[in-house]
Amino acid sequence: MTVFEARDRVGGRVHSRRLDNGAVVELGAEFVLPGYDALRETVARLRLQLFEKGTLYGDRKPRDGPPVTRDELVAAASGLREPGSGSIAEALERLVPSAGAREAVAARLAVSSGYELEDQDASALAEGAAGFGDFPSHGVVGGNDRIALSLADRLGGSLRTSTAVTRVVWSADGVTVRAGGEEVVAAACIVATPAPHALELEWDPPLPQWKHEALAAVRYGQAAKLFLPLAASAPPSQTLSVPLRFWTWTQHGVEAASSFAGSPSALELLEVDHGPERWADAVRRLRPDLDYADGPPLLQTWHDDPWARGAYSARTLSSPLDDEALARPVGAVSFAGEHTAGEWHALMEGALRSGLRAAGEVTR
Ligand SMILES: Cc1cc2nc3c(=O)[nH]c(=O)nc-3n(C[C@H](O)[C@H](O)[C@H](O)COP(=O)(O)OP(=O)(O)OC[C@H]3O[C@@H](n4cnc5c(N)ncnc54)[C@H](O)[C@@H]3O)c2cc1C
Repeated sequence: MTVFEARDRVGGRVHSRRLDNGAVVELGAEFVLPGYDALRETVARLRLQLFEKGTLYGDRKPRDGPPVTRDELVAAASGLREPGSGSIAEALERLVPSAGAREAVAARLAVSSGYELEDQDASALAEGAAGFGDFPSHGVVGGNDRIALSLADRLGGSLRTSTAVTRVVWSADGVTVRAGGEEVVAAACIVATPAPHALELEWDPPLPQWKHEALAAVRYGQAAKLFLPLAASAPPSQTLSVPLRFWTWTQHGVEAASSFAGSPSALELLEVDHGPERWADAVRRLRPDLDYADGPPLLQTWHDDPWARGAYSARTLSSPLDDEALARPVGAVSFAGEHTAGEWHALMEGALRSGLRAAGEVTR
């Protein structure tokens, strides 16, 4: 087996980093949520461990929006369990009478999906990242990228980093893959890149139209993260800036205030393309209670990362995800990646589930 990875590291949109004060933060995917069975099994198989963050991912305290009570928020969340058809924005208008709750829930959903709600299918409300409630959240001890690093260890010399695939010659009986001047002939392969990168490969023969259309239809949400080191640990907490579309949290064992902004309008409001300052000021205003350490804030964007170009796939009305076509093999080529994971799309759990599915296909 040969694995080609375009970056100089494994992990893709999972990337853990240690700050100067020792805090391990997640520049990409962070929260292990209820139902992540494939991830939990993988963690156990690799003899890694999860820790409970204490952060209540589904119970963010809204700030700076119209007044809202906790009861109104709870009622709004339960009213959205059967959202009907149309967009999330329409479902909110229809189902959430309190203006304060509507604004807070809209901010929460736009942040989590990274996508504007007017074009987001109300069915996305049933998906994992949209969950409301006081369920626990977890992370991998030492950083979520330990999963990819442990898997890479097992590959030894068959992993080639800094080696992008450029061409796939395929038939029902086998493939020839070109990457970095090397050609590998194999009985089968798995293409596990984001959708735009799969489309840009030179396919010989060209991809069938149904597959091309399914990949071209994938739309991506946008998100960024910001980390401010703390001078002392703070108890777990989670606060949502309703007008600026970001949330800030603290967690057990990590001396940092972590923030996540989601949706193109949030990234514009926070001027992330001009550096971390505006957003860092907004975090300090949102959370004046935290004891910030000296040291620069750390900003991570993904829309300008050439091997990601976005945060994760979104279930849009204008360009729906064709779950079945995205997951279906083409000849001896199988497809993996979060965008191929159906109801688990957009999540680490989806990436893992899709990889297991594709591995089953090529093994068969
Ligand atoms: C800011 C942010 C926060 C997130 N938070 C969470 C969270 O809390 N919980 C959660 O579950 N998920 C979260 N996610 C989503 C999660 O990161 C992704 O769903 C998941 O990691 C995607 O994995 P993947 O394998 O599909 O794609 P990727 O991780 O993008 O892997 C694809 C790989 O393909 C490589 N590649 C691309 N083109 C080529 C080529 N031509 N040749 C060779 N290699 C190539 C890329 O370099 C990349 O390493 C978050 C994402 C972001 C950006």
